[in-house]
Amino acid sequence: MLSPPPSDSHFESRDDLIQHVQTHAFSYGYAVSIKRSERNKFVYLQCDRDGYYNNRLNLTDDTRQRATSTRLIGCPFELYGRKMKDSKWHLTIKNENHNHEASKNISGHPSSRRLNEKDQQRVQ
Ligand SMILES: [Zn+2]
Repeated sequence: MLSPPPSDSHFESRDDLIQHVQTHAFSYGYAVSIKRSERNKFVYLQCDRDGYYNNRLNLTDDTRQRATSTRLIGCPFELYGRKMKDSKWHLTIKNENHNHEASKNISGHPSSRRLNEKDQQRVQ
């Protein structure tokens, strides 16, 4: 069972919130990516299955394609962070359920890099 990060946590910034979630997710063998966000307002984080499958080194092009298509099932795991009036960021678990196993070897996952400004702009 994959455990979600603790809910009702407060963070000094959006980056702190994302970093916390990412670190927690990695310790359980999965990764998160930004689904939707608006600067200084909110951010939705989703489970990143795509990155997991694309980084399995033993996949051929054929199996990689098939593995990627399974992503269409869509993992329901979702977190929601929003900026409060006191300018702290509040984390809420929207859906703590995963529909897949945790990755046994998640090192080298692209999401292990801190989400930088360029990535944030791309997803907005
Ligand atoms: Zn998941």
